Amino acid sequence: MSALLESYAAGRWFRAADDGEPLLDAATEEEVARISSRGLDVAAMVRHAKDTGGPALRSLTFHERAGLLKTLAKHLLEHKDELYALSARTGATSRDTWVDVDGGIGTLFSYASKGVRELPNDTVILDGGLEHLGKGGTFLGQHLYTSKPGVAVQINAFNFPVWGMLEKLAPAFLAGLPTIVKPASQTAYLTELAVRRIIESGILPEGTLQLVAGSAGGLLDELTVQDSVDFTGSAHTAGILRRHPNVLDGGVVLGVEADSLNCSILGPDVRPDDPEFGLFVKGVVTEMTVKAGQKCTAIRRVIVPSATAGQVVEALAARLAEVTVGDPRDPDVRMGPLASLSQRDEVRKAVEALRAGTEVVVGDPGKASPFERGAFMAPLVLRARPGVTEPHEVEPFGPVATVLGYDGVEEAVALAARGRGSLVASVATHDPRVARSIVLGLAPWHGRVLVLDRDDAKESTGHGSPLPVLVHGGPGRAGGGEELGGVRGVMHHMQRTAVQGSPDQLTAITGRWTTGAARAESGVHPFRKSLAELRIGDTIASEKRTVSRADIDHFSEFTGDTFYAHTDEEAAARNPLFGGIVAHGYLVVSLAAGLFVDPDPGPVLANFGVDALRFLTPVKAGDAIDVTLTVKQITPRVGADYGEVRWDAVVSNQEGKPVATYDVLTLVAKTW
Ligand code: NDP
Repeated sequence: MSALLESYAAGRWFRAADDGEPLLDAATEEEVARISSRGLDVAAMVRHAKDTGGPALRSLTFHERAGLLKTLAKHLLEHKDELYALSARTGATSRDTWVDVDGGIGTLFSYASKGVRELPNDTVILDGGLEHLGKGGTFLGQHLYTSKPGVAVQINAFNFPVWGMLEKLAPAFLAGLPTIVKPASQTAYLTELAVRRIIESGILPEGTLQLVAGSAGGLLDELTVQDSVDFTGSAHTAGILRRHPNVLDGGVVLGVEADSLNCSILGPDVRPDDPEFGLFVKGVVTEMTVKAGQKCTAIRRVIVPSATAGQVVEALAARLAEVTVGDPRDPDVRMGPLASLSQRDEVRKAVEALRAGTEVVVGDPGKASPFERGAFMAPLVLRARPGVTEPHEVEPFGPVATVLGYDGVEEAVALAARGRGSLVASVATHDPRVARSIVLGLAPWHGRVLVLDRDDAKESTGHGSPLPVLVHGGPGRAGGGEELGGVRGVMHHMQRTAVQGSPDQLTAITGRWTTGAARAESGVHPFRKSLAELRIGDTIASEKRTVSRADIDHFSEFTGDTFYAHTDEEAAARNPLFGGIVAHGYLVVSLAAGLFVDPDPGPVLANFGVDALRFLTPVKAGDAIDVTLTVKQITPRVGADYGEVRWDAVVSNQEGKPVATYDVLTLVAKTW
């Protein structure tokens, strides 16, 4: 008897007391492992996540959490070979495993990088700018995101045992939420191996990742408000979870990604000898055969102009004839078996249901598998009769697609919408007008839309690849959930709160200087202070400088910016906003830099940009400007001997009116 998979629960590996259920190799039907969660104390797991994992994670800043994700990604790269070897037992070819294992590790790297570049080195995220709620500037509002003291439970489908876990783990981890993973039993041995390698590395703080191998048991019963469940799988199971009392009344947030009848549309402009025709056919065949079509994003409905449908079918038949089906360990094999015999039975049942409204045009559903064992199935293309409903309702979760004819862009969009909401759609067209009308028609029904043409084909990641930086999820039938999408996926796990208060209070709460809060002028120029010495609110208020007409003329000549408002008296006088010659905005900010810098070598290493530059009042010859520069935010960079300092800059005129406001971004040495 093969080994019983273990759960990782409350800081130790747990083995069930019974023998468990066998899990079979998809190709050979040999037993790979056994699975059971009988006796697993899920309540203790939830407590452990909240008492140990959550506090440890929330004591780290976003940058520190991102650093751990990067270390974890590198660690898993070292274990790719054994993950690949075990993945073959799920029926995955090495091309399929690349999507699962490398795709999962790539998602960790992507979130590690986004976490450092787009999130603060803090534990709070500010959302949007300040809202001024009173005329005197003493009452302001600021939205912010904080981590929840809960647990993120993920319940995953069988088809991506590694990616499925990592794509949910990375954003939750960055958000400060510990995770409990419950993989689908069928392929849980691969998830268990990945979790084992993660746990033994010691990279993640204890309690931030736990594993349920086997049934979820009463896990949902233990969850409460502040907890979330992210589910990927069948609409049937999603329905059970939606009706759970803790979801209905207990405040548990449920995210669902369920069945999805994705489509690909061939534009009406595309002729069989256009590059887009070949790209379209290739895309459909790829989606039918990668993971043997067991992908939530696979193309199930092939929507083509009625007049071209015959040629599309011929081209699909020719390409599919080149697909070798067999043992996924054989490097010449393009498509392995389905994940299990029961999964193949499900697909066969779905094909039977589809046949009512379709005819088989490529492949033979009645043909027995040439292999004695294993869940093999050859690709099948069906062609729908006009007006039938089955292809819009039945999801064959395998290498099966249905061709549907359309007449006119409106009908193509209407057919796509009959799927009642999908994860992804693609359109092959080289006509921008067709692209606009189809994409805008598809967008309300889909989470992602790919426009494929000769210009992007070479770099395109294809119809079926969810990317960490783009939203993954879809409305309606696809479940209504949303994952990934870069930092959107992180916010999704956090609580947004509108905080109202005075500038000083908001500065203290957010860690970011707020307009109107106290400034500190110590007599030492802040450019003389290292990152360790600088404090939020440190300020330099400059001398005044009068802007002369000679300055404006010189700037025009020197830079070549001779726009009439700076050079032509008469034309400038007719300008309704200026009524005469005005200084260039860039002259104003250049003069401001001259007013605030401390020129000698010091801890300020570089200026790497400005944010939110606005010119508010025109500056004319004779106006006297000054600038106030205040430390707004200090972000030490992990692993570097410098950090970022964001300075609030306000340039004012002799009447005290602001003429320009912006944030100056600098790099400052940690010590000097
Ligand atoms: P299931 O819905 O059967 O299972 C998905 C996950 O839910 C598994 O981890 C399963 O665990 C778990 N689960 C099942 N019942 C419960 C329950 N009552 N409480 C808590 N967890 C539960 O889907 P499959 O993975 O078997 O896939 C079946 C179908 O799902 C496919 O044929 C396809 O139609 C669809 N699917 C959709 C995907 C998408 O992203 N849109 C992706 C993959 C599949 P266990 O395995 O232990 O039963």
